[in-house]
Amino acid sequence: MTTRRLFHEDPYLLEFDARVTGRFTHDGRPAVTLDRTAFYAESGGQPWDTGTLDDVPVVAVVEKGEEILHVLDGPLDGDSVTGRVEATRRRDHREQHHGQHLLSRAVEELARARTVSFHLGSDAVSIDLDREVNEAQLRAAEERANEVIWAARPVVVRVVTRAEARALGVDPPKDAGDAIRLVEAEGFDLQPCGGTHPRSTAEVGMVVILGRERYKGGSRVRFVCGHRALDAFRQRAAALERLTSLLSAPLEGLCDAAQRLLDERGVAEKRVRELFAKSLDAEAERLLGGASGSPPLVVASYEGWAPDELRALAQRLVALRPCIALLGSRGAKAQLVFAQSDGLPHDVPALLQAAVAKLGGRGGGKDNLAQGGGDKLAKLDEALALAAEAVLTVGSGV
Ligand SMILES: [Zn+2]
Repeated sequence: MTTRRLFHEDPYLLEFDARVTGRFTHDGRPAVTLDRTAFYAESGGQPWDTGTLDDVPVVAVVEKGEEILHVLDGPLDGDSVTGRVEATRRRDHREQHHGQHLLSRAVEELARARTVSFHLGSDAVSIDLDREVNEAQLRAAEERANEVIWAARPVVVRVVTRAEARALGVDPPKDAGDAIRLVEAEGFDLQPCGGTHPRSTAEVGMVVILGRERYKGGSRVRFVCGHRALDAFRQRAAALERLTSLLSAPLEGLCDAAQRLLDERGVAEKRVRELFAKSLDAEAERLLGGASGSPPLVVASYEGWAPDELRALAQRLVALRPCIALLGSRGAKAQLVFAQSDGLPHDVPALLQAAVAKLGGRGGGKDNLAQGGGDKLAKLDEALALAAEAVLTVGSGV
């Protein structure tokens, strides 16, 4: 039995009574078909409506042949039910979907790019175009679509035969049967569509393009309409407001202020690297001066050094003089870097493996350099002592 599609008759209808005509299980959930419904089933890029049947939440709505299946969050007992469609979601879909019609038409008109698909998600709305479009073309299309919105053109829906559709210059979809539903934004856009549309283009409010990227030989264009456009504006305005205060710059000077900051950071980072390199030389000399053994064994631990900083110090040490370096650092993790100068006999990776096991972590390396880390910060000294003992046991071996 065909479900009567009340959402086609009146896309503003949010409450209706209906009779249950079938009961099913869909993906493990109870589901019903009704003799009539105002719930839009997912189709043509527009997601389904949500709401309730009696008081049971409707979690999905899918087409099942000529019928519409309402997937429910729980069991529904009665045979006569009252349906309530969630108003905000329906309004949002109406705004985004009709805005898409207008934007697609404008892009086709101004850039001769056809829309091959439409995605309406809870976060993002986009169309995919069959050819690449540039920024200027998109801005022109955006302006054109908004002029049509602000002109408050009536949106008219009618059902025609395939032949009538063709006579109107519309190519009817192959699987649409002989009753073709046409949606027209008067004098601007006419196309076959089963979605829910407003009475006037004005209800779209505004269409704003948020970005574009290359996609499958064409372009993907992200945009928002209506209430989403207002939300997007508020979000951006709040972020900019915060940035103007953080950077102490007016809106028009924000980009320059950010660029200056990045430039300064680049200079500062370079200076830090130079100073750090100098301090490593001094630290290496200090450690070797205090080390005993022949060749000297250097054992040291630091707070908050990054693994690459430890490694740089270890490499300085073993390059300065023949020695063995066992270095550790306590940060988010406990880190170890072990190294020895060329020609010394220790199995550095094996020393590291044994020590890092104490830290409950892993590590590796080869030849004369190995590093690793683990979560047991409190075991760092113990791990270093273990390795030192192993080095002393083997002796210099030369
Ligand atoms: Zn449509």
